[in-house]
Amino acid sequence: MANFYEMTAAELARILRAKEATSVEITQSVLERIEAIEGKVRSYVTLDPESAVDMAKEADKILGAGKGRPLTGIPIAVKDNMCVTGKRTTCGSRILGNFKPPYDATVVRLLKDEGMVILGSANMDEFAMGSSTETSYWGTTRNPWNTELIPGGSSGGSAAAVAAGEAIVSLGSDTGGSIRLPAAFCSVSGIKPTYGAVSRYGLVAYASSLDQIGPMAKDAQDVALMLNLICGHDPRDSTSVPREHPDFTDFLDRPVKGMTLGLPTEFFSKLENEDVAGAIADARRVFEALGVKFVELSLPHLDYGIAAYYIIAPSEASSNLARYDGVKYGHRAEEYSGMIDMYCKTRAEGFGPEVKRRIMLGTYALSSGYYDAYYLKAAKVRTLITRDFRKAFESCDAILCPTAPSPPFRIGEKIDDPIQMYLTDVFTIPVNMAGLPGMAVPGGFSKDGLPVGIQLIAPHFQEAVLIQLSAAFQRATDHHLKRPPL
Ligand code: GLN
Repeated sequence: MANFYEMTAAELARILRAKEATSVEITQSVLERIEAIEGKVRSYVTLDPESAVDMAKEADKILGAGKGRPLTGIPIAVKDNMCVTGKRTTCGSRILGNFKPPYDATVVRLLKDEGMVILGSANMDEFAMGSSTETSYWGTTRNPWNTELIPGGSSGGSAAAVAAGEAIVSLGSDTGGSIRLPAAFCSVSGIKPTYGAVSRYGLVAYASSLDQIGPMAKDAQDVALMLNLICGHDPRDSTSVPREHPDFTDFLDRPVKGMTLGLPTEFFSKLENEDVAGAIADARRVFEALGVKFVELSLPHLDYGIAAYYIIAPSEASSNLARYDGVKYGHRAEEYSGMIDMYCKTRAEGFGPEVKRRIMLGTYALSSGYYDAYYLKAAKVRTLITRDFRKAFESCDAILCPTAPSPPFRIGEKIDDPIQMYLTDVFTIPVNMAGLPGMAVPGGFSKDGLPVGIQLIAPHFQEAVLIQLSAAFQRATDHHLKRPPL
């Protein structure tokens, strides 16, 4: 039998229910795995083995009383930007280095109510700004497939932990690709739900009109189980949409015959990498064999996605990050003369270079006289991108495209060239701009054996379509079953 840490949440849930193992045993197996390889991978900012074992004991009591829910007793890693009462939540930043929230994020509350076992907080780019996890104050997470490579970002720790068996499932957040990109680079499945589908209450804000929490897991079935748990209305998040969601596991076995997938010509004209192009061609063949039809379509404003995003996201960030001033919580400079000096020194010490760059970009874009030229124009482009997608979905059920323009790159390769780093998100950013659900699914491996992901995009609130398509794809392929040779 495989080790517990290699199994999916669905497999472990069956084992727990059949009383073939306890949550404590499963949690121990994951903790031992962490002990063995965390030095190489560095998925976590904070690990809490004692509290994890306590939570597992609680879960075993609930299971023993026959009151278990689908994910009771399953170990999970939570990205370091979601508040967990009394546990260090740093957002990958020095400025929140000692911050212990006095409350739980709504998603964390839901995990706890389910009886899941929280292992610790997963590493991330500082304030979720980045595509490689290299901007984390705590150091870079490594790609489990090759530890000289980046795992993707900003939810790099969440993706690496699942890929390496250091967590069974995890939560990430995605503002411009931060769930899907690391999922692709680490060969796991990850979904960014529709904007408003999952509560953002207690998620440290980066760009509030784009941020969304979502799960990362070994396969579509586990993604569906996690979506069932975290989707839903929350009165504490005014952008959360009051809407019933289906049982996503109902869509796992539905045939996809007769469905239509769209291929956006603009995405493919940009595709220079042969491995990525090959993975898309292979995926197309797989879907065609399952009876899926393909149409070509056009998203004419796609080219402006990155430019508009890098006005909107930094603008919102410059406003959201104004609260880190050293007054009420977080880091404060030790020596200063007067209040203004305290603000300046605290922020100069507390933020890293990428965060400072975004604050400056955003402050500039929002400043008087520039607002119309930058922010307002970017907001208009955003509307055009949204309309492009709406039109595209008139002729298809979902869109198939790459997640990343290349397989994972080397640590240090792009960190000194922000534009190159920003371009990594060319296929993911438009999805956030339009508020759509997008899912990264393992799509195979490059000639050098590195993960290549495919991406499926659906209309608003059609996460079930993504589950249906990705589950069908995974029944027909074995990419998602491969594990890194650590
Ligand atoms: N890489 C993008 C950025 O730095 C997206 C990050 C994210 O989705 N949080 O803004």
